[in-house]
Amino acid sequence: MRYNNHSPGAVRRRTGTDSLTNGGDALDIYQENPLQDCPYCGGAGLLEEENGWCWYAMCLHCGAQTAPFDYSTPEERVLAARRAAYTWNIGKVLRSDPGD
Ligand SMILES: [Zn+2]
Repeated sequence: MRYNNHSPGAVRRRTGTDSLTNGGDALDIYQENPLQDCPYCGGAGLLEEENGWCWYAMCLHCGAQTAPFDYSTPEERVLAARRAAYTWNIGKVLRSDPGD
């Protein structure tokens, strides 16, 4: 039996509007939230999702990271990823080692 597929599976929505409810693709989240280099060591920043409940940004080189930004809905998930990226990009980053 055939079924009509209105929306080709490969179509990707660019969020040009405020409607974020159709988003939720992690790849888009990464693309829309580029991270600057680590404020401490200049290493590459990485946006990380933790077990489906929060986002944070961390340095691949020295392990510095932002506080976690938790979410409970798909809308909050997108916003939490943005907050984590924004927080990283303005330099509100915690060093992993308490010394120094
Ligand atoms: Zn670093």
